[in-house]
Amino acid sequence: MSDQPRGAVPEQEQELHRDTVAVRAGRPPHAADQPLNVPITMASTYVAGGELEYGRYANPTWTAFEEALGALEGGRCLAYASGMAAVGALLDLVALGEKVVAPRHAYNGVTTQLNLLASRERLVATLVDITDTAAVVAACEDAAIVWIESPTNPAMEVADLPTIIAAAHAAGATVVVDNTFATPLLQLPLALGADIVLHSATKFIGGHADLVMGAMVTTSDEVYDALKRSRDLTGAVPGSFETWLALRGLRTLPLRVERAQANAAELATRLADHPAIDEVRYPGFGGVLSVVLPSAETAERLVRGTSLWINATSLGGVESTFERRRRWANEPATIPEGLVRLAVGIENVDDLWRDLSQALDRD
Ligand code: PLP
Repeated sequence: MSDQPRGAVPEQEQELHRDTVAVRAGRPPHAADQPLNVPITMASTYVAGGELEYGRYANPTWTAFEEALGALEGGRCLAYASGMAAVGALLDLVALGEKVVAPRHAYNGVTTQLNLLASRERLVATLVDITDTAAVVAACEDAAIVWIESPTNPAMEVADLPTIIAAAHAAGATVVVDNTFATPLLQLPLALGADIVLHSATKFIGGHADLVMGAMVTTSDEVYDALKRSRDLTGAVPGSFETWLALRGLRTLPLRVERAQANAAELATRLADHPAIDEVRYPGFGGVLSVVLPSAETAERLVRGTSLWINATSLGGVESTFERRRRWANEPATIPEGLVRLAVGIENVDDLWRDLSQALDRD
């Protein structure tokens, strides 16, 4: 993609453009009879005496995926069974009673998990308005982890990453950035100083709504070793077929993100002029936006009134999906009842607009 991501390009990849890295990283060597792609290794165990040993510890298909996503994000990667498995693995590293600062509008699985752990006095969860940088900086004091999601899901708020990362580090906290929405094509948190990047690879990385997977990437060998040890023990590992599919998806990530972003930006402009829409929330980058309609009823009519757009949760696929987020019981009450999150795909934007506008025009 022509635009540089937010944050500098990691040193080891400076000689290659991001779209080339997405295609090149994690391939077998260019040698006679080598396949171009790493095969799917279906194995629960390996002949003893080597490095792999057992299927919960290692798999060559994971390694290829981890090399590719690690190269794009600028750190060492570990693949997980889902985004929430990665979230759980990370929260497991928090010592008893330590404080985690996180956006009140982070993905609702994350806030629900944090609140549950806090209710068991396992940790202290401080949920903040991630756009109120001064309040976030103040909350960093005594924190073990500062968790950032930017843009947030589905409020589409953007955090001041450099300021918050600096404040968190000054307080001695580890910084985690959920980069699911931005992807390494549009935002490089590790280059901005974050310690760990987390992904729901279910979304843009996989890109085809056909797998559930997660990943974490870190610049810290200490964090990598701790996470690897816990993944070995707890077994939150992905299937090799899912990992192979996710790597195949990653190859086209730059093209898909570029097209989804162009479509989302165009739709944000057109939606802002539509009288049925009260508010458009688009941060100016990425393939996801939210719109606010006057009520739950009008929002439900929209998501049931289209033939191309699919009323479904999740995001980051080639196909456009949307949903009213407050249909979920654990979505915070600060998200408007009439908010619809649009996960824009790579279809023709005029077809997407015609389908959306005919549903909106009915109101
Ligand atoms: N992080 C974000 C921003 C998400 O949107 C999601 C899922 O929607 C997750 C994490 C959890 O990922 P998964 O559904 O792959 O477990």
